[in-house]
Order: sequence, then C-alpha cells, then structure tokens
Amino acid sequence: MSPIKPDLAATVGNTPLIRLRHASEATGCEILGKAEFMNPGQSVKDRAALYIIEDAVRRGELRPGGTIVEGTAGNTGIGLALMGASMGFKTVIVIPETQSQEKKDMLRLAGADLVQVPAAPYKNPNNYVRYSGRLAEELDRALPNGAIWANQFDNIANRRAHIEGTAPEIWDQTGGKVDGFVCAVGTGGTLAGVAMGLQPKGVKIGLADPEGAALHSFYTEGVFDMPGSSITEGIGQSRITANLEGVTPDFSWRIPDAEALPIVFDLLEHEGLCLGGSSGINVAGAIRMAKEMGPGHTIVTILCDYGTRYQSKLWNPDFLRDKGLPVPGWLDRAPASIP
Ligand code: PMP
Repeated sequence: MSPIKPDLAATVGNTPLIRLRHASEATGCEILGKAEFMNPGQSVKDRAALYIIEDAVRRGELRPGGTIVEGTAGNTGIGLALMGASMGFKTVIVIPETQSQEKKDMLRLAGADLVQVPAAPYKNPNNYVRYSGRLAEELDRALPNGAIWANQFDNIANRRAHIEGTAPEIWDQTGGKVDGFVCAVGTGGTLAGVAMGLQPKGVKIGLADPEGAALHSFYTEGVFDMPGSSITEGIGQSRITANLEGVTPDFSWRIPDAEALPIVFDLLEHEGLCLGGSSGINVAGAIRMAKEMGPGHTIVTILCDYGTRYQSKLWNPDFLRDKGLPVPGWLDRAPASIP
C-alpha cells in the first residue's frame, strides 16, 4: 500500500490504541484508549461524517456541489465541513448556542454556515436536530444542486463506520485479547457499532452515561429518567436512536462530572493526553468496568476529541468554579503568579 494518502478521507480511522497508565495501575487491568482525537477533524465523529457522506453519494442523493445539513454538538459538523471542503460539498450546521465557542469557530473556519439555536429538548420542534431536518428539506427545494440531511442520530451509516472500522481495529490492535469496551452515547453510533462488531466475539459492552442523560435508567430500570446535569459536550441521550436499536449493553453506569473531570485533568498532567470531557466519562466508565470485572482484564474505551476544543470551559478555572466543580491546582496557577 502506498504511504501517500490520496485525500483527507483516507486519513480517517486507524487510530492508535494507547495504554492509560494510571487507570491501568489503579485497577490491575489493561485500560486502553482509542485515540480518536488523532482523526483529521480531531474527533471520533470524522468516522460517522465520512460514512454518511459516502452513503449519500452512493445512493445518488448527494450530488456534486450539493449541501450537507446537520444538527450537531459540533464534532460531526467539523468532520462534515472538512470532508465537504475536500470533496466539493457545502455544509450548513445547526448547533445549540450552549456548545463551546472553539467548536463554533472551527466550524466557521472549515467553511460551514452556522445556525445557532437555543438549547431545547428533543420533544421541542425547535430542538437543533429537528430544526436541521426541516432546514435540509427547505434547502433541498431551494438550492440548484440540492441538499441532504446527514441525520446522524437515526442514519445507521453512522454506526456502520464503527462496525466496519472501530470494532475490527480494536480486535486487530489487541490481537483479540480484549474483554470489555465502554463508552458514552451521543448518537449511539460508537457504542452500538462497536457492540455489534465485538459483542458476538464475547467482548462485554458497558455504557458510561453522564448525569442528565436517560439511557442508564432505561437500560437498568426500563424508564427514561435523567437526573442531574453535566458540562460534557456531545454526549447524553434521552431516547433510543435508530443507531442504538438492537443493542443492549452488558453493564451501565451513571458517571458524575466530579468523578470524570479529575481523570481528564490527571491524563493531561501525567500522561500528556489533552482531551475533552466525554473522554473523562469514558475512562471513568472503563475504571468502573475494571473494578467490576476484577484484575487481569483488557478494557478499551474511546478518547473522543482533543481538549483545546474546550479551553474556555473545561480548561478554564473560573468556568469550573462557577459550576461548583473541582479545579486542579496546576490549572488554577495563573502565569502572573509564577515568580
Ligand atoms: N464525545 C464527543 C465529544 C462527541 O462529540 C460525541 C458525538 N456527539 C460523542 C462523544 C459520542 O459519540 P456517538 O455519537 O458515536 O455516540
């Protein structure tokens, strides 16, 4: 195979698996993080973006010069916009106002037209996902080259990216020596896709749900209950999306931010891994799975996106203090106070 990549799409996936030292030492397990932040758009969502685009092109719905419309917490939009730039498609992104400024800036930089909407639950017709579906229909009628709705939550091209990519990569990289996989859910593409690829091979699947999400209570009690809240972005689902259908995790935990964030801080301070909040929920989930399974197991999780995307929030002491969250000493040390 040529070492030269023909285009951006060819650089998506085949991310390294990194041993997480502290988590592994603390549990006696091998806890491995799949470095999805090393995708070209710096997140796991490049995989779904690529599969959704390729699927729409194959079906003849996305034509040259066409427009891709999507409702996204940001990362899928960044993947779609960068891939779109590379392939000749325009992107229109509907994003809740509450998402980080860095992601919005990156979306604009990548050429996306941005529509910001107030955060609203899915049942509200102006929820960003439902808004984006209507906008796609309008633009498809109005634009000469048409528009498609990527619809990442209910378009199963999303989870196919993980059935065909992430799951076999994990299997190959561990030589089949993998006992558990755990991650949080946004669309469910990652969890369900990896589960469909690895559960039949005997790998146990764990859900790490943030507070404010409803899946933990659904999988453990059969009801959609969503207590609490989280500063993490891109995760926290209140319904069974089409991507989640047909999959049942073997384990489920609800992880508070107060448990996840110290892990994210420690990973940067001691292991040089600069990550977003959802990666902290995932690693916390992997630690819980390791404790439940006992020492000697290999557990894989997802390092979802790069931390600079959250400089104004997760990495901002004032923001954390405002939310009543723990602030690590080193992060709190303003440069002016260094003698
Ligand atoms: N972490 C981050 C930062 C994300 O943006 C997303 C996707 N919204 C996820 C995790 C969850 O991935 P998935 O959509 O495959 O469930």
